[in-house]
Amino acid sequence: MRHQLKNFYRMKMLYLMEHQNSYQKIQRYRHKKCQSKKYLASLPTVSVVVPFHNEHWSTLLRTVYSVLNRSPEHLIKEIFLVDDASTKDFLKKKLDDYVEKNLKKVKIVRVKERSGLITARLAGAKLATADVLVFLDSHTEANVNWLPPLLDPIARNYRTVMCPFIDVVAHDTFEYRAQDEGARGAFDWEFFYKRLPILPKDLENMPEPFESPVMAGGLFAISRRFFWELGGYDPGLDIWGGEQYELSFKVWQCGGRMLDAPCSRVGHIYRKFAPFPNPNHGDFIGKNYRRVAEVWMDEYAEYLYQHRSHYRRIDPGDLTEQKELRKRLNCKPFRWFMTQVAFDLIGKYPPVEPEPFAKGTIRPESHPQLCVDARRGKQMDKLYLKSCMEDAQSEQQFIFTWHKDIRSKSRNICWDLPDSTPLKPVVLYSCHLGGGNQLWRYRPDTKLLKHGDGAKCLDWNRETRDLYINWCDGSATQRWTVDSVDQKMMAQWDKVMDRVTGPTNDY
Ligand code: UDP
Ligand code: MN
Repeated sequence: MRHQLKNFYRMKMLYLMEHQNSYQKIQRYRHKKCQSKKYLASLPTVSVVVPFHNEHWSTLLRTVYSVLNRSPEHLIKEIFLVDDASTKDFLKKKLDDYVEKNLKKVKIVRVKERSGLITARLAGAKLATADVLVFLDSHTEANVNWLPPLLDPIARNYRTVMCPFIDVVAHDTFEYRAQDEGARGAFDWEFFYKRLPILPKDLENMPEPFESPVMAGGLFAISRRFFWELGGYDPGLDIWGGEQYELSFKVWQCGGRMLDAPCSRVGHIYRKFAPFPNPNHGDFIGKNYRRVAEVWMDEYAEYLYQHRSHYRRIDPGDLTEQKELRKRLNCKPFRWFMTQVAFDLIGKYPPVEPEPFAKGTIRPESHPQLCVDARRGKQMDKLYLKSCMEDAQSEQQFIFTWHKDIRSKSRNICWDLPDSTPLKPVVLYSCHLGGGNQLWRYRPDTKLLKHGDGAKCLDWNRETRDLYINWCDGSATQRWTVDSVDQKMMAQWDKVMDRVTGPTNDY
């Protein structure tokens, strides 16, 4: 018995040490200054809403226990686990019994038939009674002191919506690791979630919360009052998809704002496989996107349809109520959102890819029978000059794209300069879409093909016919012709690029 007891204490010690270690490890991910940040003494209470469909036992409970263990106790009023018609046995009576016995604050809500996470979140939100709604996925881990950084800005202004930083809990080892040090949420014109860089003024201000145009999805805090003023989610949105855009647009356009809180971190298991079949609801994502676009995006909806033309034919259903809501709340136009909040989105994800500013073959002015070629037997990576011809052994058609790179017409491969010391070769490398050592510029007036900041030019060796880089001196071997140069595009060029990267030197 004594022996056993000793063992028990030893195990307990080990457990505590282990616990302490992982606690410190998790703690470490937060910005250094988070530990000394002060929050309002009196913060609003919280109803946590967690929808789940066939979630695993351990991950579901990890969500609940991390919330309970890592929040000030008095702030958590209730946790709703909303069962979106799961079919696994253990999520029924076994879960009910476990919760009944161990988790006083947890309430299980059952949705009658599978209706998706939007309906499930709404079901939980409707029952909630606390000041603030916090939505979480069912496979998350709330990090150390995650809650006050979300609640403090809401307490000061109830129209503020807060998102935590989302970290990664590995799906195979359950290890917790940081995703990165944050970004602003955005989208492209196929409605894929994208990210924009944190603004310099916000970087300086770290770890204070910063404005973000759209939320990533399921992890956020909003005052119950503001959520319902905004009509919750559009109940016409089916299953999942587009709801994060709908709510984000509404928040911004209808008098609120959305912030990311660097000191609040929540780990999320990014799934490898969706463990459940898709419900048989047709193209529900297309329908959802269409609803969001029609109600909130004004003339910008057209860009979405240009990329996904079949959306035009999807019936979005009745939009009367959503449009009335927008009018009643006197919400701002989408143009305002795009120019004031997501002002750098168009530059990074242009709705219409600008035309290339030049294309075709590139030849030395003095030797127009030679063309730059990107296919040199085994040495595929080195550019050189070869007789102009169009056959399977040649690759002589290039595009000067709006990214300011020079790309092969037939492959996703760009002119690259790993080493910009004079006389170093120009090689081919996968395009990295803008900037760095793939930045080129053609001047039709001087016929120079300049690299990077403009001090060095494309040149060639008459003996080997290799292409290399050298100081621009205007010598004959630095003058090039390009088949077709779009003068109008060239003129717009600087304006476009200035918006993307800030003004650059004249080169
Ligand atoms: N979910 C749900 N019904 C569904 C699909 C998802 O209740 O039809 C839940 C799911 O269990 C999770 C949350 O909604 O808690 C978000 O879904 P998921 O994690 O699949 O989205 P992801 O994180 O992969 O974007
Ligand atoms: Mn998830």
